[in-house]
Amino acid sequence: MKMVFATGNSGKLREASEILGKGFELVTPAQMGISEEIPETGSTLRANSQQKADYIWDKCHTDCFADDTGLEVDALGGAPGVRTARYAGEDKSFDRNMDKLLDELSRKEMEASMMKAMGIEPRKNLRKARFRSVITLIINGKRHFFNGILEGRIARCKAGKGGFGYDPVFIADEYPEVTLAEITEDRKNSISHRGKALRAMAEFLQGLPAAGLI
Ligand code: IMP
Repeated sequence: MKMVFATGNSGKLREASEILGKGFELVTPAQMGISEEIPETGSTLRANSQQKADYIWDKCHTDCFADDTGLEVDALGGAPGVRTARYAGEDKSFDRNMDKLLDELSRKEMEASMMKAMGIEPRKNLRKARFRSVITLIINGKRHFFNGILEGRIARCKAGKGGFGYDPVFIADEYPEVTLAEITEDRKNSISHRGKALRAMAEFLQGLPAAGLI
């Protein structure tokens, strides 16, 4: 089945191609002649995911899907959340985003130890976090939504060279000794937020009578 994946992120594209497998041919916006950055101005992951898929549908009238992903850290009240890509600024630098996150959490830990010294019980599990993906699929002009969550925690420092984005600072509950950037892509895909959401989408498509999976 041929579909446009509304992303300019090569890491997402590589993972989605692996997760969906041979039955799917993924086409990028650039291959459809869309060179501008697709706007993401919503206030939720779902709104951004829908905005990206709608953009492709409006321009090309082609079956398509988009993924919007956020990292939610409990001690930061769910931040960076919908601001995950731009946490440290509009340049969307992976390194600066991770540095800012590590700094914010060190600050929270310092505050917690000061509270403890004053006899106040601080919040526990300050590094608890999750990735959440929302996928919007548009088939024949109709939208469908799929979600995936990966629970884990934020590491104390960056480790590993694999994956992309925040992978060097995220430790999944399933592999508690290493970051996502230190496990194979196959292992990441088998547990990840994106893997869960995309497999749900693939299952849905397989159930459609005229899905035309190749
Ligand atoms: P968006 O979904 O393209 O808006 O991406 C949000 C931010 O999350 C970007 O900084 C991505 O690099 C990051 N991100 C998305 N998926 C992953 C992932 O699987 N691992 C690590 N970072 C991710």
